[in-house]
Amino acid sequence: MDCDVLVVGLGPAGCGAAQAAAAAGAKVLAIDRKKEIGVPVQCGEVIGKGLLRSSGLKLPRQAICSHQDHTRFVIDRSISIRNYAEQWASVSVERKILDKLLAARAATEGASVQADTTLIDLDINGDIVESATLRMRGRDVTVHPKTLIAADGVHSTVAKMTGVCWSSPDMVAHGGEFEMISKRPLPRCMQIFIEEEVGLGYGWIIPKGRKRANVGLAEVGDRGRIRDRVEKWVEDNPIVSHYFDTDCIIEVKSGDAPVPGFQGGPVRGNVLYTGDAAGQTLAFVGEGIVPAYLCGLVAGECAARSPEMYDSVLRERMGDEMDYASDLKDVILSVWQDESLNLHQRFLVAGMVMSESISPESLEKLIDGEMPSFQELKKMAGSSNPHVRMSRMIGRRRYKG
Ligand SMILES: Cc1cc2nc3c(=O)[nH]c(=O)nc-3n(C[C@H](O)[C@H](O)[C@H](O)COP(=O)(O)OP(=O)(O)OC[C@H]3O[C@@H](n4cnc5c(N)ncnc54)[C@H](O)[C@@H]3O)c2cc1C
Repeated sequence: MDCDVLVVGLGPAGCGAAQAAAAAGAKVLAIDRKKEIGVPVQCGEVIGKGLLRSSGLKLPRQAICSHQDHTRFVIDRSISIRNYAEQWASVSVERKILDKLLAARAATEGASVQADTTLIDLDINGDIVESATLRMRGRDVTVHPKTLIAADGVHSTVAKMTGVCWSSPDMVAHGGEFEMISKRPLPRCMQIFIEEEVGLGYGWIIPKGRKRANVGLAEVGDRGRIRDRVEKWVEDNPIVSHYFDTDCIIEVKSGDAPVPGFQGGPVRGNVLYTGDAAGQTLAFVGEGIVPAYLCGLVAGECAARSPEMYDSVLRERMGDEMDYASDLKDVILSVWQDESLNLHQRFLVAGMVMSESISPESLEKLIDGEMPSFQELKKMAGSSNPHVRMSRMIGRRRYKG
């Protein structure tokens, strides 16, 4: 079986890659080991509207569950920050439907799309992949692609087989969540929780309807079985338990996400790496679906035309956004590890950075000086970002300022 481009993985990155490579005239074979594309889901299933609009990506209507007009950050269970800027409005999707329909778009462009087909071996000469062995629904098949696109996720088999590593294993966030039915109507916002109980990461309530949501957390490091941690967090966090009981869980999801810096479009020999396999996420706020799809499109187009252009084209199209997100992640990590701040201060400062309610100048003041009073903080946030509303949560006074 021959093809010009073999795409391994049919998540958003692989679907984008297969679609673009086929549209550019290549003979494309795109495979995924899953029996049903998109299942199981390993995702909070939310997409920021800012990136969505600037990307021009049209989401299939059937995949859309709900719209949220802002994001609320709950810091240390005591301070609430609402960001009403467009990039913090969001749309929730059903990944099971989205991934399948993105794969269908690739097939419509002419790609051969094969579920239940696993890459099991590569024959490599120097840096060049000469052939790939696939287990296609129980049969072993050898293909000789001119170019291979590794879109096989954070624990990329292709990266392992080709001996490369685009993200460090200790910079992977372990995530778990329950899809739950709430006891009362949910506010029309995504809620992000930054607190000690979650650790180096964040918790979330992502509505998928008036009384349905993904509720979970992701953190770097290992503090026990992620499902147990989510269950405990749902029960202990006063806001989360106000809406949800653990006796109403309709789906359990878990998975890992890379938290790297942007490394452009990596190419080794005739292999292009994309999506989570290349660390192409908008760290630190979890956006992976749209970046993976957009980077996949570039990988596919370049694989069909000129693979050596992948890095430069990607940097031109996506570099600003990806670099900004990498810088944000670096600032958050340095705050998190700053031992001159106590734990509450670290969460507060990291939360303000994440919610974009602090300017770089105010950040320096906040880290170097005395912790300001709540009123001073509020003033700082208001003057740094007109879209932000900060309030103190009555009765929950962990923040002593
Ligand atoms: C808990 C959690 C919550 C998240 N929440 C969000 C969110 O709310 N919004 C958001 O935008 N992003 C979120 N993300 C990130 C997002 O899910 C990923 O960034 C995105 O799915 C990356 O797409 P991808 O195509 O690169 O990889 P994946 O979606 O991981 O796709 C890789 C595919 O490769 C296939 N594959 C792997 N190995 C092989 C093989 N050997 N042979 C054949 N196929 C193979 C897999 O089956 C898989 O389908 C979350 C991630 C996690 C873990």
